[in-house]
Amino acid sequence: MINAKIGLEIHGYLQTKEKLFCRCKASRHLAKQQIKPNTFICPICTGQPGAKPMLPNEEAIKKIIQIALMLNCEVNIYRKIGKKIYGILTWNRKHYDWPDLPKGYQDTISGAYSVPVAEKGKFENIRIRECHLEEDPASWNPKTGYIDYNRSGLPLVEIVTEPDFSNAEEVELWLKKLLLTLSYIKAVDKNAGIKADVNVSVSGGERVEIKNLSSIQSIKQAIIYEIERQKKEKVKRETRRWDEKKGKTIVMRTKETQEDYRFIPDPDLPIIKLSEKEVKEIKSRLPETPQEKLDKLIKKHKLRKQEAEILYKNLELVELFEEVAKKIPPSFALPWVTTELLRVLNYNKKTLDDPKVDIKPQHFSELLKAVRQGKITELKAKQLLNQFVPKSFSIKELVKKEAKITNKKEIEKIVKKVLEKNKKAVQDYKAGEKKAFNFLIGEIMKISDKRADYQIVREILEKKLK
Ligand code: ADP
Ligand code: MG
Ligand code: ZN
Repeated sequence: MINAKIGLEIHGYLQTKEKLFCRCKASRHLAKQQIKPNTFICPICTGQPGAKPMLPNEEAIKKIIQIALMLNCEVNIYRKIGKKIYGILTWNRKHYDWPDLPKGYQDTISGAYSVPVAEKGKFENIRIRECHLEEDPASWNPKTGYIDYNRSGLPLVEIVTEPDFSNAEEVELWLKKLLLTLSYIKAVDKNAGIKADVNVSVSGGERVEIKNLSSIQSIKQAIIYEIERQKKEKVKRETRRWDEKKGKTIVMRTKETQEDYRFIPDPDLPIIKLSEKEVKEIKSRLPETPQEKLDKLIKKHKLRKQEAEILYKNLELVELFEEVAKKIPPSFALPWVTTELLRVLNYNKKTLDDPKVDIKPQHFSELLKAVRQGKITELKAKQLLNQFVPKSFSIKELVKKEAKITNKKEIEKIVKKVLEKNKKAVQDYKAGEKKAFNFLIGEIMKISDKRADYQIVREILEKKLK
């Protein structure tokens, strides 16, 4: 029996407004907007000689505590027991020389002798060894030599698991759950993705670390490849990288030559002392977990499990639904959110968390209310919804102009016009071509600017075609 063990070190971008040690904008959240290189920079995050860090970003510290609590970790609170002091969180300088790191070290609350922000957690049956906070280096293009400092100094969370996974599928499922949970606390920037180092060993043998995997898909493929490789070859303790194109892991370095980071506490940064009160406060305000949300959708809103599952995978969507469901019966609102709205978003290649997309629940509810009360047709509502992306609007004023036509005489006129114009379709229908009927309905709706009452149109058309 081959028995694989897999452990992960996962990095995610914390969702904050500013960088960790300066007040530069955290541009990762604007990633989709194609920011020019070196737009959000200052002497601190470009490592100018003599520049000193500012106090660490409190938002980043709060977010990492939220993450730790969601993962059921013990947060290292500052406390004295007898003569001993616990929970001294120090920023350490992790040294290495690389063009993306002009100060020559990365500040991190980790390292050989450090106390992590939180530890000993468990999430979905996988033990969490620790969570800590660190800064991101800049990005360096080895081909051109150019360096972009927009990223430099952004807060990162690192989550280290125990080697509790035994295959790639388990890792994939778990990571999806983790990302969903983190998206519920709006703590990690989904658009920025994750980066992970993956450790794999087989049958109690040496372990191999695969560095810098940047998607769930490549994590999965690298693990599958590595387990197979380790079953066949003699395994050495080493660091490898995943070559996407070749579909292989390749040696980067053996453990003997691994760099020595020479961790030392950073004298320019204060010790962090987390108080019990502060952590309790954050705990009491933690949002619902995805599981709690799912249960609520089923119990409170009486959705079927399948329906609820579509919604809960997308926090912005479920939040919109819950707001709309305060005014519109959930069963009525559901297809408009999960089918229609998603259709329009997909068509525009947009998602609800895009900062440029602004769909107000109020506007959405107004639209559905107008359909429910028979003020506008469903088709008209869909047409209006098409215009809700990127920005919704109130349809109150439009309702008169776009009102449903229910006057039979008026509809009869339209039907007559359409039949005269489409003699061929009428003939086809009479010759048994059922599709021609739908075509004619479509034409009638088009000419009425999607306002004719569908039922009445059908009745009149059926009568006329007899
Ligand atoms: P390092 O000092 O090399 O970073 P750590 O002890 O911090 O090593 O562990 C790093 C990662 O390696 C963790 O995610 C852990 O789960 C994983 N790991 C530890 N032992 C094993 C093993 N025998 N097989 C697979 N992964 C392992
Ligand atoms: Mg490590
Ligand atoms: Zn800066």
